[in-house]
Amino acid sequence: MPQAKQEHEKGFRAVKGMHDVLPSDQPYWDRLDAAARDIARAYGFSRLEPPILEDADLYKKTSGETSDVVSKEMYAFRTKGGDLLALRPEYTPGTARAYLEHNLSRAGQPQKLFSMGPVFRHDRPQLGRYRQFTQIGFETVAGPNDPIYDAEIIHVFTELLKALRIDQWKLKVNSIGCRVCRPLYKKQLTNYYKSREKELCADCKERLAANPLRLLDCKEASCEALKEKAPNFLDKLCATCAEHFKSVLEYLEEVGTMYELESRLVRGLDYYDRTVFEFYAAGEEEALGAIAAGGRYDYLMEMIGGHLTPAVGGAAGAERLIAVMKARGIAPPPRNGKRVFLAHAGSLAKRKAFGLLAELRRQGIAVSEALSRESLSAQLKAADKESAGLALILGQKEIYEHSVIIRDLRTGLQEAVPRDRIAEEIKKRFATMGHAGHQ
Ligand SMILES: [Zn+2]
Ligand SMILES: [Zn+2]
Repeated sequence: MPQAKQEHEKGFRAVKGMHDVLPSDQPYWDRLDAAARDIARAYGFSRLEPPILEDADLYKKTSGETSDVVSKEMYAFRTKGGDLLALRPEYTPGTARAYLEHNLSRAGQPQKLFSMGPVFRHDRPQLGRYRQFTQIGFETVAGPNDPIYDAEIIHVFTELLKALRIDQWKLKVNSIGCRVCRPLYKKQLTNYYKSREKELCADCKERLAANPLRLLDCKEASCEALKEKAPNFLDKLCATCAEHFKSVLEYLEEVGTMYELESRLVRGLDYYDRTVFEFYAAGEEEALGAIAAGGRYDYLMEMIGGHLTPAVGGAAGAERLIAVMKARGIAPPPRNGKRVFLAHAGSLAKRKAFGLLAELRRQGIAVSEALSRESLSAQLKAADKESAGLALILGQKEIYEHSVIIRDLRTGLQEAVPRDRIAEEIKKRFATMGHAGHQ
């Protein structure tokens, strides 16, 4: 096929909306990974990783068939066996499915669950937004419907931002009520919009019948204007929901978390009730969209055949967090220097160096090298780039004396150490180097 051949001659490129995480970006990912794991451990969240592929109906039944995530953005396909599967567009439904399937309620309540991995949405690619992106999710499932858990989930994300040194952010919170008060509010909202139907965008005219709450989410200018006078949900909450929301806010105040009440915040997924929240980077980076978001989803388990199970959770978008860090010049902490660079002088030393490398690495010592370079100064220049703390130098003389020169690259001081004591010496020096951050 000549046409196919031509295309390959141009070379392959990543699929639209997909991105490569290059080694130069890895320090940001390491930082994020370490911060998320540290917080999960400190707050008692255990990791749960559902598979990337799920039954597409799982998302239709929970996130909602008319939600943008399911109707426009989900990668769904039929397998050769005829099953309709989807690449997960988010974590929560898969986590809920796993919770029910494995009877996790028996393992204690509440279950605090943590996830971190790729999700997929066929969205318009733009800065910080990809079709494969990474979510860091925290969920508190089962146990009492206690507002303290809503506040704790929100607090966990403020701690994540703090750990990444992202300190200018906005938190928007709202309550979208429960089964008792939401239908009444929906009716008032429908009446309000029905009388102004002509001014609505085409999408919203359709949404009005399916879910009027989603009109509050529309970004079209004509609909944006109508939101201003739309009835406010916070005025219509039932007494239980109002009390719940008030407590959430009090807990947030207790830990000094600043928030903005945002009565138009509804989140575009059907399973949410009561508390919903979104974090934005303040200033220019607000244009990246929400960097973390979530809410309470007490009815989700029922939607997929379980019992009523109070739950609250949220997820942060890793690529967006990294985009904010880069835009603000927040560098991930440098490598901690607990790395050795092995340099050699001469061809016999090169051969012996190969054996020494294997030996040190087997002992768990991270060793870099530039063995293909002959000049010692070129090798030591490479050591600088690696930000190694120590250099080992192996030359003709050292081979005959069964020694290795160890040089502290920060002070420039060096000494010869017997070959059979070198690993021990490296470990000793690393132990006194202290902790300059995560690696
Ligand atoms: Zn209510
Ligand atoms: Zn609209």
